[in-house]
Amino acid sequence: MLTVNSYAAASATDPLVATTIERRDVGPKDVLIEIAYSGICHSDIHTVRGEWGDIQYPLTVGHEIVGVVTEIGSEVTLHTVGARVGVGCMVNSCRECVNCLAGEEQYCLKGNTGTYGSVDRDGTITQGGYSTHIVVVEDFVLSVPESIPYEAAAPLLCAGITTYSPLAHWNAGPGTQVAVVGMGGLGHMAVKIAHAMGAEVTVLSQSLSKQEDGLRFGADHYYATSDAATFTSLANSFDLIINTVSAKIDLHQYLSMLALNGTMVNVGAPPEPLPLQVFTLFNNRRSFAGSGIGSIRETQEMLDFCAEHNIAPEVEIVSADGINAAYERVLASDVRYRFVIDAATFR
Ligand code: NAP
Ligand code: ZN
Ligand code: ZN
Repeated sequence: MLTVNSYAAASATDPLVATTIERRDVGPKDVLIEIAYSGICHSDIHTVRGEWGDIQYPLTVGHEIVGVVTEIGSEVTLHTVGARVGVGCMVNSCRECVNCLAGEEQYCLKGNTGTYGSVDRDGTITQGGYSTHIVVVEDFVLSVPESIPYEAAAPLLCAGITTYSPLAHWNAGPGTQVAVVGMGGLGHMAVKIAHAMGAEVTVLSQSLSKQEDGLRFGADHYYATSDAATFTSLANSFDLIINTVSAKIDLHQYLSMLALNGTMVNVGAPPEPLPLQVFTLFNNRRSFAGSGIGSIRETQEMLDFCAEHNIAPEVEIVSADGINAAYERVLASDVRYRFVIDAATFR
């Protein structure tokens, strides 16, 4: 066992504080990673504040991890000591269900093993990336291309793949009209990736305060959802809407903007249900869908796509003692556009 420094919350209402956690010994197929940076995802906040249900405290969250391999098990073939690697939202799956065998292990029928808050194979609760080191089985570890700056690579492991996967699955590309709702961590990556895929991209944000940024990230159009005229002028317009909003929205207003056969994909995960009026779907034969992270194969594809297209998240680096303040800024939609923790400050 390796005892490492981390940050964790003791309850849903306590701030995160410095503590230590145990990492398992490096097994034959494991790699030990010295973490360099760890992104702050809104899911971390939903989780530690108990918004998605009860959890076991204290819990160290964080599932946007990049670092360097410092030790490998005797049977490891995919990674070498010194390699730049990443770990995203899952660290294992059953490997034998129909979805795992189809290479879609994020949808493992027995539930993938989340990077934090899941029951690990040894019965312990997995602990995430707000720490100095992590031990992960080699085939759930990604290779981070050299051309992506270390700190900017971290958010790709969740925000990047969670938006890349539905954009790829629903064929965003030349000739498609894509709208991105909410321009935070996930949303700003959705804009960059959809633009790189060749789609015409529209941002639907609460206000126009980030319009210049959105256009710089590759959006063609930018509208404020606080203006009711946005919904009427854009009715029946989009082939694909990616909703990244972390709070409840009025689905009817957004679904009404879908064109014939259009799909709205929800990746935002608000704690409360979103009421759906099915008649809105009958018009234009619309679909409402969800999408969760992405497979390991697709995550590697996304990393290579971002390297090839020179795409990287906009990050603001914080130290460990700045995590709680960063959480408040995320909750106030005051993130530009992903906080990334310098893991050296956990030491
Ligand atoms: P984030 O950085 O906080 O971005 C969310 C954005 O939504 C905000 O920046 C804001 O954008 C908009 N927003 C926030 N509150 C709103 C409200 N009340 N009404 C309208 N718009 C609002 O969060 P994130 O890290 O990108 O995560 C977004 C959501 O995706 C979270 O719920 C997270 O748990 C979920 N998630 C899901 C998956 C998955 O696998 N499906 C993976 C990762 C994250 P504007 O200021 O531009 O309006
Ligand atoms: Zn996440
Ligand atoms: Zn499975």
